[in-house]
Amino acid sequence: MANTENARKNANQVGIVMKAKTFGNPIIPCCGAKTRQDKFCKKPPLKGKKRCKLHGGASTGPRTEQGKARVAAAHFKHGKRSKRYVEQRKKIWAELREIERRMKLDGLI
Ligand SMILES: [Zn+2]
Repeated sequence: MANTENARKNANQVGIVMKAKTFGNPIIPCCGAKTRQDKFCKKPPLKGKKRCKLHGGASTGPRTEQGKARVAAAHFKHGKRSKRYVEQRKKIWAELREIERRMKLDGLI
């Protein structure tokens, strides 16, 4: 109990919060969003979320198909990791390996 209280007390200091965030080993999870004072938010996140209610923790994300499509489009960069592209490349490489295997069997290479 005392440890939890101490950790909570420490977590209220910005330095501790930043360290915990930097090393990926948070003692007490904090929201950590950047505030207008250029500091990290020290409020605890909502249950099962990473942010407090003031910094987007209450957001449920896009619900409608149109909203989901808009967010997906906003995050789409070049498509080189898209399912379609990855599958296409897999097929091409499998075909090339098969051709190479056949050529080796026939003694061409
Ligand atoms: Zn916050």
